[in-house]
Amino acid sequence: MRCLFCDKEIEKYSLKSILLEEDSICCDCRDLLKVDRKIEKIGDLKIETFFEYEGIYRSLLIQYKECYDEALKDVFLYDIKDYIKLKYFGYQILYVPSSEAKIKERGFNHLELMFDSLHFKKVTGLRSKKELIQEGKSGLVRKQMIDNYLYGGPRLNKVLIVDDMLTTGSSITGVYNTIVPYSNKIKCLVLASKRKTLSHLKY
Ligand SMILES: [Zn+2]
Repeated sequence: MRCLFCDKEIEKYSLKSILLEEDSICCDCRDLLKVDRKIEKIGDLKIETFFEYEGIYRSLLIQYKECYDEALKDVFLYDIKDYIKLKYFGYQILYVPSSEAKIKERGFNHLELMFDSLHFKKVTGLRSKKELIQEGKSGLVRKQMIDNYLYGGPRLNKVLIVDDMLTTGSSITGVYNTIVPYSNKIKCLVLASKRKTLSHLKY
């Protein structure tokens, strides 16, 4: 088997890869993709993050999302899946909506595929009012993101809002604000953070 990232033949397997679940990247690439768990704060919102959006995480995500390399879907959660399963046991998962146009182009919903293996029940009924593309847009668009969601589903108990990348936090804040009136408890989890300069608590 070859590493899906560096394409070298995998010669050395970790114990976890042998006994529990095969990794689709090699040990060297896995070492570079170090988990660095943090709590980011945006206003009153606390968001758990696991990676810095740089280096190999950034390259893997681009390969997965922009080059449509669906085979990478299990790479991102490989080291943190058990932790998330235990910590958020009993939560329903709510994905920050992706652009419909992007999902069509890609042929898969990248976020749902990444988190599929958790087997959490999914929250449906949340949608975007408008397709707003955030990347490189003005502060006004980012502000509009906060007020860009509608929820039309049933009352919810425990909800885990997830996304793959945290930048300004406007999308996740928007989703959070929309779902608050319908939910008893909400937690937020984003795989990687771009917000290096923010203060954060380590634990
Ligand atoms: Zn590799």
